[in-house]
Amino acid sequence: MRIILLGAPGAGKGTAAVKIAAKYGAAHISTGDLLRKNIKEGTELGKKAKEFVDNGHLVPDELVIALVKDSVGKIESFLFDGFPRTTEQAKAVDTFTAIDKVINLQIDEALLMSRITGRRICKDCAAVYHVDLLNGKDKCSLCGGKLCQRADDNEATVKSRLDVYKKQTAPLIDYYKQQNKLIDIDAGREAAAVFADVEKILG
Ligand SMILES: [Zn+2]
Repeated sequence: MRIILLGAPGAGKGTAAVKIAAKYGAAHISTGDLLRKNIKEGTELGKKAKEFVDNGHLVPDELVIALVKDSVGKIESFLFDGFPRTTEQAKAVDTFTAIDKVINLQIDEALLMSRITGRRICKDCAAVYHVDLLNGKDKCSLCGGKLCQRADDNEATVKSRLDVYKKQTAPLIDYYKQQNKLIDIDAGREAAAVFADVEKILG
């Protein structure tokens, strides 16, 4: 299976991707991981990417696509997590592989906002909590560490990330709709319910 997972930041893409990869044996491909791996291993593409990263620049589209193309290679079964982000990238993907299905994790914006701004992370073990379920506690129930809010998890930052996502992804959603590959899933529910829907789609 060749799957793309779409969804706004905080919609639960990462969690779903890990479960899909485990159950269906699909290679989980995220561009962030790919970049880190290639830079660490000093591959030709990794060396090129490193120059941009070291200079504080974004790695250009062409290079990201080359990395993805290279990693897909002869793999039969894979899952793209957070890629492609733009229609241009989607068109490039269509030149080197045939995507079967695009799963779009949809979530209400107000719910997403509350999920992210209410998130509290243990600074020692990175366990994740939601402020609504803590009843005023500020310590991790696993290790006793202090619970903190990430600097990025504030309303203004989340709003601007969502705006960027919507602007970039709306055309991408149309692109895959026209190819009859897009399947929407309501991601505003518990992870288990979301994954049950994914299983129905993937069989
Ligand atoms: Zn902890």
